[in-house]
Amino acid sequence: MDNISSPKKVKEIMDKYGFKFSKSLGQNFLIDQNILRKIVEIAEITKEDCVIEVGPGIGNLTRYIAEAAKSVVAIEIDKALVPVLKETLREYSNIEIINEDILKIDLHKLIEEKFRNRTVKVVANLPYYATTPIIMKFLEEKIPVESLTLMVQKEVAQRMQAKPGTKDYGSLSIAVQYYSNPNILLRVPPTVFIPRPNVESAVVKLEVLKEPGVHVQREDLFFALIKDAFGKRRKTILNALNTGDLKLDRDLLKRVLDKSGIKENRRGETLTIEEYAFLANNLAEIHNNL
Ligand code: SAM
Repeated sequence: MDNISSPKKVKEIMDKYGFKFSKSLGQNFLIDQNILRKIVEIAEITKEDCVIEVGPGIGNLTRYIAEAAKSVVAIEIDKALVPVLKETLREYSNIEIINEDILKIDLHKLIEEKFRNRTVKVVANLPYYATTPIIMKFLEEKIPVESLTLMVQKEVAQRMQAKPGTKDYGSLSIAVQYYSNPNILLRVPPTVFIPRPNVESAVVKLEVLKEPGVHVQREDLFFALIKDAFGKRRKTILNALNTGDLKLDRDLLKRVLDKSGIKENRRGETLTIEEYAFLANNLAEIHNNL
């Protein structure tokens, strides 16, 4: 495999196709072969694996994935990159490029059509502007995904992995940990990208759980409670939930918190996922017209 990820080669390719980086599409391409190799190692891809890559760019990571995997479907929003990818990936028969917005794609249909509903692994150096919606789409749509190995902004990776009582713990931590087991496995400096981002990055691997980590009767209520609890971080859980979007009655809340064994003067950021699940389940039981 010849190297297309050196800064010189990337510039050559860009000049040949008259390509210009789009900041708004989060185009920061990786130019370090060691990092590319490590991402694929972390993803633990084998010749049995079907892989979805989000945002192949000029195909530098795609090639490493394709060497290790059975087949790869790479979804790239930028039309200008399609002819580039046709050239850089021409020697691989196990890669298909789809020119679409990952946020608009029907993932159930894609997995059915391209992989006959087999479980997939997701690998991506994500565009930073859309990290959270892309991750939540893969987790929430209940598609057969085994793991997501993702390059993201370091702070976002820390939020995904954060535990209760820490400053990074928030609704993203709970949403990600409800569906998966996240682990930061590599820190990545800005110097390995072209152009260099202003932030540090990290590779985080989300091992998707077969069933959510806690039993929740009404997911809509569980997530609405979490949104309200973290919307007003400085308030007690009682005040945050009383004045949030759900507008829960104070006396009702006192009863539900008491039944759940949660002191009303605690702050939302100290509650575990299990406590939020317990709270949501008790609330659903007491107040079934919510
Ligand atoms: N994989 C390449 C690499 O590692 O060097 C490029 C990664 S770059 C950080 C993000 C890529 O995602 C860009 O190629 C960008 O055009 C693409 N992208 C941005 N938004 C997208 C979206 N909504 N759907 C699909 N691809 C997207």
